[in-house]
Amino acid sequence: MASGVFFLVAGPAGVGKTTLLKRLVAEEKNLVKAISVTTRPPRADEVDGVAYHFWSAKRFEDAVANGEFLEHAVVHGKRYGTLARFVLEKMDAGIDVVKDIDVQGVEQIGRHPLFRGRYASVFIMPPSHDELVARLKSRESETAESLAVRLKTAESELERAGEFEYIVINDEFEHAMAELKAIRLAEHCLASRRLT
Ligand code: 5GP
Repeated sequence: MASGVFFLVAGPAGVGKTTLLKRLVAEEKNLVKAISVTTRPPRADEVDGVAYHFWSAKRFEDAVANGEFLEHAVVHGKRYGTLARFVLEKMDAGIDVVKDIDVQGVEQIGRHPLFRGRYASVFIMPPSHDELVARLKSRESETAESLAVRLKTAESELERAGEFEYIVINDEFEHAMAELKAIRLAEHCLASRRLT
């Protein structure tokens, strides 16, 4: 059976990744989302085990020591990681997995021998810098301090968009969705996947 594809989706905070991926998984067959582990506290609307697995720093550290993560990184001063077992089980069963991840995580997966030829990287861009600032400000959960940190991280992430295989501009939601679906379709038509 052909392996599933691991879709790594990155982009600055506030660009709309969460909403896009939620809809994508709801509308597409044979595609699941890998839920990240984080040590940051949940936002008001976030449920443990749905938005993230919210773990203590100690539990996170133990999982690192036990080799449970495919990759892990510090983003905005908090730890985030991808649990290996879930992703590998799904892909080995021929199911695609999509993951919201930062640039450091994409780099780590790209170097991982288990994922050679089995992943695709996608960067979601805001239509403009002003629009990104507006979207971030509209998140009531952001304090002035966390907004400043996220904007700074966003700027350094945008500079690295050229390292990705695909870029989707989230200007009009339906159009961005169509682009994500097209990327998935194209990935499954790759000769290297069809002929294995
Ligand atoms: P937020 O705290 O705003 O939900 O996410 C902050 C950043 O962490 C986002 O850029 C998101 O893509 C990234 N992120 C979420 N989960 C993971 C993960 O499992 N690994 C890595 N490397 N980054 C992640």
